[in-house]
Amino acid sequence: MDAINSMEPEPKTIAGAKGDWEMVIGLEVHAQVSSNAKLFSGSSTEFGAEPNSNVDFVDAAMPGMLPVINEFCVEQAVRTGIGLKAKINLRSEFDRKNYFYPDLPQGYQISQLYHPIVGEGEVIVETKQGFARRIRIEHLHLEQDAGKSLHDLDPNCSFVDLNRTGVALMEIVSYPDIRSPEEAAAYILKLRQILRYLGTCDGNMQNGNLRADVNVSVRPKGSDQLGTRCEIKNMNSTKFIQQAIEFEARRQVAILEDGGEVVQETRLYDAGSGTTRSMRSKEEAHDYRYFPCPDLLPLEISRDWVDEIAAGIPELPDEKKSRFVREYGVTPYDADVLAAEAESAAFFEEAAAGRDGKIAANWIINELFGRLNKDGKTVSESPVSAARLGSLLDLLASKEISGKIAKDVFDIAWNEGGDPAAIVKERGLKQVTDEDAIKSAVEKVLEANPGQVEKARANPKVAGWFVGQVMKSTGGKANPSRVSELVKELLGL
Ligand code: ADP
Ligand code: MG
Repeated sequence: MDAINSMEPEPKTIAGAKGDWEMVIGLEVHAQVSSNAKLFSGSSTEFGAEPNSNVDFVDAAMPGMLPVINEFCVEQAVRTGIGLKAKINLRSEFDRKNYFYPDLPQGYQISQLYHPIVGEGEVIVETKQGFARRIRIEHLHLEQDAGKSLHDLDPNCSFVDLNRTGVALMEIVSYPDIRSPEEAAAYILKLRQILRYLGTCDGNMQNGNLRADVNVSVRPKGSDQLGTRCEIKNMNSTKFIQQAIEFEARRQVAILEDGGEVVQETRLYDAGSGTTRSMRSKEEAHDYRYFPCPDLLPLEISRDWVDEIAAGIPELPDEKKSRFVREYGVTPYDADVLAAEAESAAFFEEAAAGRDGKIAANWIINELFGRLNKDGKTVSESPVSAARLGSLLDLLASKEISGKIAKDVFDIAWNEGGDPAAIVKERGLKQVTDEDAIKSAVEKVLEANPGQVEKARANPKVAGWFVGQVMKSTGGKANPSRVSELVKELLGL
């Protein structure tokens, strides 16, 4: 990643009537911690359970109930911090954020405002091959999620489902370092990839397990001042995030060029019309009357524990990608595709071990991923295991089968199962390398087509036709390069 900073793409420019403007974007990402239990209670976090079935006395804020911190959630936050190359704070504190939350019966959210568990870190974002930028993380804190209010089930009343109430969230706040809608999308996807590698959040955006508040401002191109921002709440689609930023930046440019002022506020994106609209004016921290939560002691963790967690951090996407290029000789693009998910990376390494990495990469990206996509399967559901693909690659490398037959064998293994070596043996698909057998096949074709032989002698290009015929007559099993040599030899070319 030496390209960082030296190859900074130009910020996305908006051409206004009175000059060029640039966008400044900062994201607050809410990532649901992968944990079976909530942050301060033992209730289950299962998605899609019967409404209000995963609620215990703490979640329902029954009098006298006290929160107890879930150590596993703390560990997940620390893991994430380490994955974001961030500073881990050995001492952090929980604060109450007071607000009327219809779906959080406590009447406040337990969060970390003043002393978050994770400090400054970074995410390296590539918008296109070779253009990498460092987006700084300001901090990561732990907090409770609220439940869900359901307004569309009945014309006269709203319902509340408290299943999500108290589920652990990591809020990951970036500095306003992002400069274009594409970069915002790439940032979220990279963050999602890192979280999935770490196993600390499943990254399921559809279920809302990963969602973002998107802060947008604009400023005259080249300015180093920050403009007034608006915050677009609760977005869980990278496509809509980009559309919302684009619209919002243009809206602000129009206001400023008109001599007006941008009002700092919270806005909502309406995907139907592609516009943002005001939701509420922006509250300041003091409006929430934050104060240290008296029910919870400051959270103190030991350096030893952090070191222990650090020792268990897997190799992350950036490192994996560089290593794939270095060790297997694959292109950076292919390395990116292979390392997209930890499972696909592991599959590649198992299939490529001790073999030609480039050929393994080609097979996985072109054949395997293509089929998985078509069948709507993930790598871990692949009907052909990495070991079996490896065995197929061995048959190819030893020239026991041709490329064409390899694809047929892959087909059979995919649809019917079985080990490629056994399939080749049972069905007699072994490439004919026996010199005499190939020679006699060539001779037969030449004898049967005297007219073509004449033509080929006059025009050597016609020789290719014979190679095709011989391959056909041997069921694709003859070694094609040997066939080609023998055709030329016997034609006297
Ligand atoms: P708050 O806590 O009130 O939401 P912060 O100052 O912590 O505000 O910022 C929240 C988010 O807004 C951060 O992701 C930050 O990067 C982003 N942000 C701050 N100022 C700007 C700005 N002028 N333009 C765009 N984004 C901004
Ligand atoms: Mg905020």
